[in-house]
Amino acid sequence: MTTAEETVDLAVRAAAASGLAASTRADRARWLRAAADALQAASAELVPIAQAETHLSEARLSGEVVRTATQLRFFADVIEEGSYLEATVDAPDASLLPPRPDLRRMLRPLGVVAVFAASNFPFAFSVAGNDTASALAAGCPVVLKAHPGHPELSRRVADVVRGAIRDAGGPADALVLVEGMDEGLALVRHPLVTAVGFTGSTRGGRALYDIAVSRPAPIPFYGELGSINPVVVTPAAVAEDPAGLAAGLAGSFTRDGGQYCTKPGLVFVPAGTTFETELATAVAAAPGQQLLTAGMTGAFAAGSDELAARADVEVIAVADAEGSAPIVVATTASAFLAEPEVFQQEHFGPLTLLVRYDDPGDLSRALAELEGSLTGTVRTAASDDDALVAEATVALGRVAGRVLFNGWPTGVAIAWGQHHGGPWPSSTASVHTSVGATAIRRFLAPIAYQDAPQAVLPAELRDGNPAGIPRREDGVLVA
Ligand code: NAP
Repeated sequence: MTTAEETVDLAVRAAAASGLAASTRADRARWLRAAADALQAASAELVPIAQAETHLSEARLSGEVVRTATQLRFFADVIEEGSYLEATVDAPDASLLPPRPDLRRMLRPLGVVAVFAASNFPFAFSVAGNDTASALAAGCPVVLKAHPGHPELSRRVADVVRGAIRDAGGPADALVLVEGMDEGLALVRHPLVTAVGFTGSTRGGRALYDIAVSRPAPIPFYGELGSINPVVVTPAAVAEDPAGLAAGLAGSFTRDGGQYCTKPGLVFVPAGTTFETELATAVAAAPGQQLLTAGMTGAFAAGSDELAARADVEVIAVADAEGSAPIVVATTASAFLAEPEVFQQEHFGPLTLLVRYDDPGDLSRALAELEGSLTGTVRTAASDDDALVAEATVALGRVAGRVLFNGWPTGVAIAWGQHHGGPWPSSTASVHTSVGATAIRRFLAPIAYQDAPQAVLPAELRDGNPAGIPRREDGVLVA
């Protein structure tokens, strides 16, 4: 074994021995809430470490601590409510052909989960982020591969969460931290790891996905990846409020240096309107940002320079700002149609690309070429042509996990109805989400008990429903 493999082996075995799978839902809910309280209590200590390591602002990071605590508490609510278990009870019926035995089905935790943290959410998609919260809630211990962009913060958050779980009477080893690229590879290959939750780039996610599925025993790999988040602006929306629209777009794509997986990076706009001038004005005053890492700064500069230098691309605006400056470029629908894959590359930073369309036909041909994204946005107005809006909705619904109207895609609410995922290349598992209640489903597998004695059944499946959870009984949903 290499040193990395030995480190990971110790970490995975400690997590597996933590006993989390055998804990009750009530206990796990208490531990998640204790972790949330401890994180918020440590905010004043953690935020300056995060600021120094990521260059993000104090306001943004303080808000992210609250979001992270809210996610932990949300998953405590989800497991207490109990419908996530999909508990189902079918009484035996010998008169059926074939006869039906006594069947009782529910979901159970998979086992140790490997989680890879992202750089751009040092709290909310990192050590105590969504993947960790949903896996712990499911009853799966987590071995967390820290992101090298915020190592000190990762260690402190792990200490805070482990301490909070221990102080609340739970197993600290429900969460174990490992660091290093070789350690990450060894983690995905470890035989006791049963699933991987990954948030990061499409390239990194693809490399680790390939390892996960080519192991002797393949495991599910849930990669939430990069995305360009197309926006369709209708002619009526531009006519109604070009300045408001421009200010909204500028605010969304430059927010925190454009370092969001939900940044609107591709915007279909009618050709020949005042919108582009309004956008240039709004962007001229936008602030720059020192990006998360030197590697990202270099990649953003190289990518935007290459795009701006193309003969079929026009630079509309570059902000006069420190750090990585916001930039808007534009092309035509026919240029987009000639090389759709080139114009759909993610530029992780404050850049957005306008695609000018001349008529609805132009727009629908371009929309047909879209690849998978986390979100799709329609900017519409009351006087709009309903058929155009309906067509844009269908086209975006085909390629995006969340379709929104007259808002901006940055900002992902934590809710029972949320979906944060989408077709490849925005995710490796288009049927799942990493935000919202159903994120827990990724770390659970079904089991059906046939003619089992009451004593061996989990309380959630016993006669009389002693756990008091929503169940489907003989085909009928019982609250
Ligand atoms: P990243 O560079 O892919 O890193 C993510 C993690 O994967 C790190 O721990 C990294 O560790 C590891 N990794 C990457 N490539 C690897 C490889 N080939 N072998 C082994 N380990 C590898 O992504 P990032 O810089 O954190 O984040 C930026 C990207 O994440 C953007 O594309 C953004 O859109 C996306 N993102 C998506 C979401 C979402 O919910 N869909 C949310 C936030 C961000 P090492 O550096 O140690 O290798």
